[in-house]
Amino acid sequence: MQFDWQNIDTVLLDMDGTLLDLHFDSYFWLEYMPSVWATRNGFMIEEAKAKLTDMLNHHAGTLNWYCVNFWSDALGLDIMELKGQVAHKIGWRPTAEMFLKRCQQECDDVRMVTNAHRKILELKILKTNIDQYFDQMICSHELDHPKEDAAFWHRLHNNKPFDPARTLFIDDSEAVLESAARHGIKHIYSIAEPDSVLKRKSVSRFPMLERLA
Ligand SMILES: [Mg+2]
Repeated sequence: MQFDWQNIDTVLLDMDGTLLDLHFDSYFWLEYMPSVWATRNGFMIEEAKAKLTDMLNHHAGTLNWYCVNFWSDALGLDIMELKGQVAHKIGWRPTAEMFLKRCQQECDDVRMVTNAHRKILELKILKTNIDQYFDQMICSHELDHPKEDAAFWHRLHNNKPFDPARTLFIDDSEAVLESAARHGIKHIYSIAEPDSVLKRKSVSRFPMLERLA
């Protein structure tokens, strides 16, 4: 994939499923955390997973869905402590670092825009040093809206102006990509295979990247 660098001033990049393998997150939310929660509450694992799926669906697309504190309270678990126990599973997607180095060469305004909570971002920085590649790292919690909401993009612009017509944005969530498109962001790409283990292919109306670099 050749990006149109001549016409790009700002690069906005998602973290989980785009730069880092979504496997850490899907393993945590679909396997590890449900098994701990089931054991502590005396549920069968399938029963625990069904209950959690209902709860997760109820909060999909909201900041709660991405909030460590919300889930710690709702489930009576220390989510950060549990994440730490499986942090060895945090890893890069293929060619992501090569791509980030290219972004640094081509562009003076490279920002991470993530729905991940700042505590999770810090854990991932600890494991990957991903912060070295960014001029700015924005967690949507700090703008009070997830990327799915129009208000996120307005606040991102107010925080540090950017020209949507000269912005590249890459994310693995179709709802988020649609939200970015509504804001007028011109160069939008989806990720074909965010999770290296589940290997579930994405469906997108935007061009899909097999590899970043
Ligand atoms: Mg993502």
